[in-house]
Amino acid sequence: MAMQNAQILFPVNVPNAFDYSVPCDFEIAIGNFVYAPIGKQIKLGVVVSLGKAEQNRKLRELVSVKQAKPLTAEMIQFIFWTSRYNCAPLGLILKMVLGNLKSLDPSPVVNYFSLNKSLPPKLTTARLSLVNNGGPFPARVNEIAKRARISPGVVRGFIKSGGLISEIRQIDKPFDKPIINYGKLDLTEGQQLASEQLVSQVRKKEFNVSLLDGVTGSGKTEVYFEAIAEAIKENGQALILVPEISLTQAAISRFKKRFGVLPATWHSQMTVAAKRRVWREVAHGRAKLVVGARSALYLPFESLRLIVVDEEHDTSYKQEEGVKYNARDMSVVRSKISNHSVILASATPALETLVNARSGKYAHIILPERPGSAFLPKVELVDLKKFPTKKNKFISEPLIVAIEKVLENKEQAMLYLNRRGYAPLILCQSCGEKLKSPDTDSWLVEHRSTNRAVCHLTGFSMPMPKSCLKCGVEESFKSVGPGVERISEEVSILFPNANVEILSSDTSRNAEELASRMLRMEKGEIDIMIGTQMVVKGHNFPNLTFVGVIDGDLSLSGGDLRAGERTFQTLVQVSGRAGRTKKLGHALIQTHQPEHEALAALEIGDRDSFIDAELNLREALLLPPFGKLAAVIISGTDEKKTDVFANKFISVAPKANDLTILGPSEPLMGRIRGRYRRRILVQSRLDFNLSKYMQLWRGKIKTHANIKLQIDIDPQSFM
Ligand code: ADP
Repeated sequence: MAMQNAQILFPVNVPNAFDYSVPCDFEIAIGNFVYAPIGKQIKLGVVVSLGKAEQNRKLRELVSVKQAKPLTAEMIQFIFWTSRYNCAPLGLILKMVLGNLKSLDPSPVVNYFSLNKSLPPKLTTARLSLVNNGGPFPARVNEIAKRARISPGVVRGFIKSGGLISEIRQIDKPFDKPIINYGKLDLTEGQQLASEQLVSQVRKKEFNVSLLDGVTGSGKTEVYFEAIAEAIKENGQALILVPEISLTQAAISRFKKRFGVLPATWHSQMTVAAKRRVWREVAHGRAKLVVGARSALYLPFESLRLIVVDEEHDTSYKQEEGVKYNARDMSVVRSKISNHSVILASATPALETLVNARSGKYAHIILPERPGSAFLPKVELVDLKKFPTKKNKFISEPLIVAIEKVLENKEQAMLYLNRRGYAPLILCQSCGEKLKSPDTDSWLVEHRSTNRAVCHLTGFSMPMPKSCLKCGVEESFKSVGPGVERISEEVSILFPNANVEILSSDTSRNAEELASRMLRMEKGEIDIMIGTQMVVKGHNFPNLTFVGVIDGDLSLSGGDLRAGERTFQTLVQVSGRAGRTKKLGHALIQTHQPEHEALAALEIGDRDSFIDAELNLREALLLPPFGKLAAVIISGTDEKKTDVFANKFISVAPKANDLTILGPSEPLMGRIRGRYRRRILVQSRLDFNLSKYMQLWRGKIKTHANIKLQIDIDPQSFM
């Protein structure tokens, strides 16, 4: 047999795979896990390609092959694709895929004894005492004896005579198999039509993308359940991606209602053991139904037939830490590689997605109304110039009147403000100093519930100072602007008899707290809920009839290219929480800019006119989805050296036609955690391979100690 070479990729920060020679007696294939020497260590890696050995090249040899289910060729292709497109080191993508290496091994087991069911009718008193104890019993004779209060000798004798049977149980239980037609709802005519379209897409068993474009509460979940049923009915697997915040118990239990079993779930806060179980069951094709946050896309599915990206417009699909990628876009890539369907679902699709749907690249499946007697809420703007709030108050008269009515009718209200804490700015009235984070260019936010000043960007916090850190004057701080705590205070004064609760990441730090608050809201125990972005998504509160938005302009500031789009999406979604069952819903949005396109379109419910205007603007400026963007973020602990490096990087940019390079410039957050930051923005035509260009550029310069260079393809954040 000819000698072979293998390229091995290791799950570490390396840009590519390394060559090894394969000992003659090794039988390996692409996707196998192998041990090989790297530096002075022996590490586990994956075979990503095989070839004939070259005569004159001396390579190090593989050490051994690990008994484990190999990665599929599709998964390996997806790893390469993700790395190339996002300009991220190949090894780090593999690391993202593998996570905990224990997942590769079979489930750990426990040994135990169970009672033999066919026991002789007559037993000694001692043995009877053991039998009456029931079982299962631990694997140790002494422990069994202690539990049944008999001698170890009796236990041994009983085992010998076959009274106790030694058994093995896997710790990581397999997932139950979904039942295809378990709890199918009677769909409305429109829903039925939409579900048939989706099912026929899945049935094609080839790559295709559908946009499920349905107004809030139209039953998108019920509709895509049918596509999932189709995908898993012949042993296939389906992945449903949801924004992390939406992975609530309520959402998971909808899967149970429909398919009779709990799905496998995947998110960042799972225990290592729970992750290990899901990973292994997914890899062996035994977990059919997986609901997860964005990183679930990198689970090693054996026979994936469908990916659903719910709330596809959601910004949390973009991973900003570590490897920067957009799980929505990568879902489409993965489906293309594995040749199956993907469904992007939203009431407010991203412009990128809409353009693809309009051009016919994606199937466009529309659900224009809510089922039965539920209607979309009436949305109105409250012009704060006409209805100013009182000094240091933030709720205008029309909102107060609306809430009064809701309380009178024994219904529920929700107030939305995407600002945690009491006040976003702490100002010294004596010298004008704003309380800032010590190592970051951000203002500290006052949190009254904990009496601390908190940096929301880095998590830094300190007790609220008694005197100004600059001028020393005592009790000189003034809270400027509202956060949810301050709104709660105002609401409690206005409506002293109402039950008011705040829903934010501060009040719902874990799944239990969140679930109990949601349940209280569902049961009607909360009259007015005040929430940050946590309230925007996916909840169904049947008795919620009014939504008030405290600051409709908040996300318009900051100069982000998607500011208008995001504002529109968020406000449609948050208003869409109202009136989801029989009662009519109503939303009021406080704003200083009622004439802004995004807000005006919202009031008249004219999504298309807003989208057309926005698309025209983007097209004129060659911005996404009509052009491509990449960002470079350079950071360092020394400001001067960071500037020097950034300028040097610009000077080595490869020449290319029709390419605009902007910067380096100091971003809004010029310093985070003590690192000075500079940004470069690169803009190209759509048909230009920007990823390849950026890789080439990156290769022209060496970073040195203390300087970090990150590339962000299709940036979502411009901070
Ligand atoms: P969306 O995801 O479009 O916002 P959901 O799928 O969450 O909408 O549906 C909104 C609510 O309406 C859910 O409580 C859902 O169970 C219910 N619903 C949707 N379609 C039907 C139907 N055909 N029959 C009964 N209830 C339905």
